[in-house]
Amino acid sequence: MKIEHLGIAVKSLETSDRLFSRLLGKEYYKQEAVEREGVTTSFYKVGDSKIELLEATSPESPISKFIDKKGEGIHHIAFGVENIASEIERLKKEGFVFISEEPKEGADNKLVVFLHPKSTNGVLVELCQEKP
Ligand code: ZN
Repeated sequence: MKIEHLGIAVKSLETSDRLFSRLLGKEYYKQEAVEREGVTTSFYKVGDSKIELLEATSPESPISKFIDKKGEGIHHIAFGVENIASEIERLKKEGFVFISEEPKEGADNKLVVFLHPKSTNGVLVELCQEKP
């Protein structure tokens, strides 16, 4: 595993893109809407990892709910794995709870699943695998 990216929930991509491009000294390399998840994302390369900014596209979006409860900030940590199906099996055997055990298409050409924060010290953990 490696830290593939950190997801940061923001109220406004426009505002936060200005902030992060100043912070990192570069523009995002990709902006992408993930309709099913109710988010628009911007991705920045930071060394071998990335920063993913997430803006809600509707009040029902998980990002809206997160910001209502906790405000803007770090939303999830994403571990890049070689084989998402075998990692899901391994972690289930270890007793971890998944929000959904079926990998879905996420942003940035990835298959993704999320572990429930109640089984990971309150941290929302994403596993992601590059799509074949
Ligand atoms: Zn992510």
